[in-house]
Amino acid sequence: MTDGEDSRPVFGRVALIGLGLIASSMGHAMKAQGLAGEIVGHAQSEASRAAALEIGFVDRVAATAAEAVAGADLVVLAVPVGAMGAVAAEIAPHLAQGATVTDVGSVKQAVIEAVAPHLPAGVHFVPSHPLAGTEQSGPRSGFATLFVNRWWLLCPAEDAAPEAVARLRRLYEGMGANVDTMEPAHHDLVLAVVSHTPHLIAYTMVGVADHLRRVSQQEVIKYSASGFRDFTRIAASDPVMWRDVFLTNKEATLDILGRFTEELFMLQRAIRMGDGQQLHDYFSRTRAIRRGIIEAGQDTAAPDFGRSKPAT
Ligand code: NAP
Repeated sequence: MTDGEDSRPVFGRVALIGLGLIASSMGHAMKAQGLAGEIVGHAQSEASRAAALEIGFVDRVAATAAEAVAGADLVVLAVPVGAMGAVAAEIAPHLAQGATVTDVGSVKQAVIEAVAPHLPAGVHFVPSHPLAGTEQSGPRSGFATLFVNRWWLLCPAEDAAPEAVARLRRLYEGMGANVDTMEPAHHDLVLAVVSHTPHLIAYTMVGVADHLRRVSQQEVIKYSASGFRDFTRIAASDPVMWRDVFLTNKEATLDILGRFTEELFMLQRAIRMGDGQQLHDYFSRTRAIRRGIIEAGQDTAAPDFGRSKPAT
């Protein structure tokens, strides 16, 4: 995919800070579509930097984040949410005038508060979040089609330069994503509903099963073809990433968890009272929501959700 009618990349030099699932998928996608002139990568460990080079989703790596961003037109912060502020402080003096900085963090308000104060005037900060991922992490987990037909939300400040926002949008659309803009606080609430709280529930359910040690070593694993298997897939997600999500999206997650607990008590009572009508009505409503997600193209109706391997 190219910038407008000509065949030039959307950005000349792109620096990926963090070389995990999201950054490696971005690297693969940018290379596949010719969206970047050069991709420079940095991760904290030598092992991840070496893996990125070997796989080839970056053209070169740098030992420090400061070195990686020198001369970059676009800097992507793809580290855990809790590390964003320190990385921003490190790179700030080395950013090129006119460069765009984005992040891909799962929480937006806390990242903006941590990053924005460090960035110098003349650098465009356009926070973003791809609503795409898997339970895998690290440089070997990425693939070029991760963002295809997935939403990628931009949360620019009101005074952000429209050209910088438009250019980033072109990059993400070039990777196959659908791009929308959203106000950061609203983003955090929406994500608490569609992603953060469901992950917490999956972690809890797997934790509960694990407590039942008598069955967990035998039946739970053996018969996990039912709903439990999807919970274990989600609960296998990266512990650092998800720790940071809950520490930084505290208010919205607690709000949604409060509502969740109320609904759970209501269903618990319906079960205790033998109120089949209430259970049936509730499950009919949730089934309709699932149909809506399929109709919106955000999942398929195939009954193997989460089990087939993503295309690379
Ligand atoms: P990941 O696979 O765990 O990779 C994280 C990367 O960040 C690793 O390469 C790690 O280096 C590097 N890193 C951590 N701290 C660093 C530091 N201080 N300086 C430099 N590099 C550092 O993570 P991910 O899944 O790609 O997530 C990255 C970001 O995207 C997170 O903010 C997350 O919230 C967001 N996100 C994730 C998903 C998802 O489903 N996974 C979806 C959307 C958005 P080492 O490899 O050397 O440890």
